[in-house]
Amino acid sequence: MIVVWRWEERRRDKADGPVFDLTSVWTFGAVVVLPPMLALALIVGMRIATYQIRRRPWWRFLFGSAVILGSAAAADIVLRLIGASVSATSIGEQALMVGALAAAAAMYWLAQAASHAGMITLSLTGERFRDQWGSRGDNLIEAATLAVGALLGVVMTHGALYPLLVLVVLAPLNLLLAEGQASMAELREHARTDTRTGLLNARGLAEQGPRVLQRSHAAGEPASVLIIDLDHFKTINDSWGHPAGDAVLSAVGRMLRETVRPGDIAARDGGEEFVIVLPDTVIDDAAVVADRIRAGLAALEVVARDKNGDPVVITKRTASIGVAVLPDHGTTFDDLRHAADAALYEAKNAGRDRTVLVTA
Ligand code: GH3
Ligand code: MG
Ligand code: MG
Repeated sequence: MIVVWRWEERRRDKADGPVFDLTSVWTFGAVVVLPPMLALALIVGMRIATYQIRRRPWWRFLFGSAVILGSAAAADIVLRLIGASVSATSIGEQALMVGALAAAAAMYWLAQAASHAGMITLSLTGERFRDQWGSRGDNLIEAATLAVGALLGVVMTHGALYPLLVLVVLAPLNLLLAEGQASMAELREHARTDTRTGLLNARGLAEQGPRVLQRSHAAGEPASVLIIDLDHFKTINDSWGHPAGDAVLSAVGRMLRETVRPGDIAARDGGEEFVIVLPDTVIDDAAVVADRIRAGLAALEVVARDKNGDPVVITKRTASIGVAVLPDHGTTFDDLRHAADAALYEAKNAGRDRTVLVTA
């Protein structure tokens, strides 16, 4: 177990979203092999030992531990009810045992699913079921883990202990899972990122914007939505060419990333339009951020090449910004974005290079 420790820690570093517990291999294996009290001791010991690498608030850790114990108990009851023996020799008895293991694993899984679903119903954290319970891929990993756990239990009870064999099976499996999850997380990240600016793209915004606002709304906190449209952007393309426009977009993206706090959302919603979501921010503070963004734009010096390939420095860009706040101007992301968009058009009509706060 010590050996797989480091890998497990690294896997948790790379994973985003819920981390699936590869420790089910041991938990479920223990249920299959050990008398209930020993299995209980092993599970509790393992939870305590892995507390450090889990990085969860203590109450979630406790809840998770309770869920695992409950699932283990449910699986144990199923095994007892069916009454199959691990050391069965006849084909019929072995088939019964395999069936019992599958039923126990299903029970283990079901108990976890039910507890998580219950927690989501009770919680006001605004997390969606998927965030809590994970994707199809995550659940396949869990299924594979339970299967290996059952296999492990059978191997270990069948006469000799094969600690080395266990390692030989688990080590590459763990590495494989870590690899798969890391590249899955990378792909997911990629699908949400705008390559030109390094900001979230429209898809990422559509995913995270509503989530952040829902969370703020549930917590009774304010939040602000800014929509930024660069002024006369077309003249950059017309004067110096498309690549020069692209260079300006990259620079704006970098500036925006440096301007927002961690926890804020900064996205390129397409073209030369950007959306910022600021949780826990009232309208006056949002106005300050908008001013900071306009000052950042004015201070940009973008070195690019013009249509002839000669160097050109593009400066003094301006933008029009519309600002709406939760809950005064709407309670959903779409409503707030709509309100901010209307304010943005007011800013354009009033001569550009300014911020307009929604008033109604
Ligand atoms: P306004 O002040 O009214 O916003 O004027 P504008 O020219 O910025 O607005 P408009 O929406 O008419 O034009 C936006 C332009 O942005 C049109 C398009 O050619 C340019 N654009 C959109 N996406 C990109 C891009 O990825 N790269 C470059 N270089 N230009 C882009
Ligand atoms: Mg524009
Ligand atoms: Mg535009």
